[in-house]
Amino acid sequence: MENHIKLYSTLSRKVEDFVPNEDGKVGMYTCGPTVYHFAHIGNLRSYIMEDVLEKTLRYAGYDVKRVMNITDVGHLSSDADTGEDKMLKGAKREHKTVMEIAQFYTDAFFSDCEKLNIKRPDVVEPATNCIPEFIHMIEVLLEKGYAYVAGDNVYFDTSKLKDYYVFSSQNEKELMVGVREDVTEDVNKRNKSDFVLWFTKSKFENQELKWDSPWGLGYPGWHIECSCISMKHLGDYMDIHCGGVDNIFPHHTNEIAQSESYLGHKWCNYWFHVQHLNDKTGKMSKSKGDFLTVSRLEEKGYHPLVYRMFCLQSHYRKPLEFSYEILDNMESAYTKLRRTISRLDPDTEPEPEAFAAYKAKFTDALADDLNTAMALTLVYDVLKAEMSDRTKLDLLQDFDAVLSLDLTAGELAAEDDVDAELESYVLEKIQERTEAKKAKDFPKADAIRAELLEKGIVLEDTREGVKWKKA
Ligand code: AMP
Ligand code: ZN
Repeated sequence: MENHIKLYSTLSRKVEDFVPNEDGKVGMYTCGPTVYHFAHIGNLRSYIMEDVLEKTLRYAGYDVKRVMNITDVGHLSSDADTGEDKMLKGAKREHKTVMEIAQFYTDAFFSDCEKLNIKRPDVVEPATNCIPEFIHMIEVLLEKGYAYVAGDNVYFDTSKLKDYYVFSSQNEKELMVGVREDVTEDVNKRNKSDFVLWFTKSKFENQELKWDSPWGLGYPGWHIECSCISMKHLGDYMDIHCGGVDNIFPHHTNEIAQSESYLGHKWCNYWFHVQHLNDKTGKMSKSKGDFLTVSRLEEKGYHPLVYRMFCLQSHYRKPLEFSYEILDNMESAYTKLRRTISRLDPDTEPEPEAFAAYKAKFTDALADDLNTAMALTLVYDVLKAEMSDRTKLDLLQDFDAVLSLDLTAGELAAEDDVDAELESYVLEKIQERTEAKKAKDFPKADAIRAELLEKGIVLEDTREGVKWKKA
């Protein structure tokens, strides 16, 4: 498969053959979380699909080195260099220091990743570890004439580039210029699209973390961290850079501007962007406040891998709408799947030909710009196919190197089983009660309610129908 992975790149706006710079090796960079709050399940959609990408490359035989930053400074509440530093906002909210907030939410992020079987990247680097590298890059950009100092901040001069809006078509470019119009104007900027590399003066003087620099005591802009951290660990040429689609502009656009001006050559060949998870009100976002986390889903009784399966069912380049109804269906599908697989007989004969045939199909599905929905369908095809249980188990174990759904880890814990059984019992009783009420047999309806109550189940009649909960 090494030679036939096809991936869409936002840079070429095409599905391309993936060819890394160095034979057999892949340098991969992922924009990490801004650790001022828990990651929501939208953020985690991006990290799940990037995990699938990394594992697909490894499955194909590539030696992958994956690097991720942790944004613990510099990301302002607007992506366009205005507003308060998100970290400071988090620290104020929780009456803690910025570093305490960063540590707490970094740990929380990796704990969520573990629950979702997202592999930890080979290198994880917080931005605050790399201040000397940022300062060096900014010095070079100033020397080369790509940056200027104004009002005591250092800015990148986008007018020095032939093509600043690299990700956009001509029509979009015209629109993009307008994007900046409604942003509070920074009078120091020579061009609307210029962005901050280093702040010493800003609207808020109470920035907690500040470092000495040739331009005075200050702190870095947001974009510089990803350019420097990726170069520190992956060198001057990178194969693939990932993030959610909201990172395309301005974050990744600015990363390319400063990296290629600094290096003097093309920097990264493929740009992989995951579409958003939306809820009914639109894009799920941390700043909206009320967002869904993995812990929240667990509290509601969902196994975290049900959410992973929910994400795998849809293509990473399509927006995905979250709904509990689909998650419920996924939960029962996942429970059944684990149960069916746990009943396969491992003491049967392996069949190498059948194994190879299905492995080839799975490989093709992933190589087709990560067709994870097809890869999941193949799990069911394997279970239905005429082949020995041993072969099925071997295939599912092999597929799980990428899917990471713990397919062969046995039936789900007894507690989940009890819950599933209880749920189907209660639903049956609710149905019986509804029919009794329809037939005006109220004593029977009351008896059913009482029977459930005795078992610790409370019914509630609502406009959307009958709901139940444990007493
Ligand atoms: P942040 O922690 O805000 O820096 O975001 C972490 C990652 O999540 C970035 O790659 C974002 O592009 C991505 N992201 C943010 N919101 C969503 C969403 N609703 N759906 C999918 N990915 C998202
Ligand atoms: Zn980044």
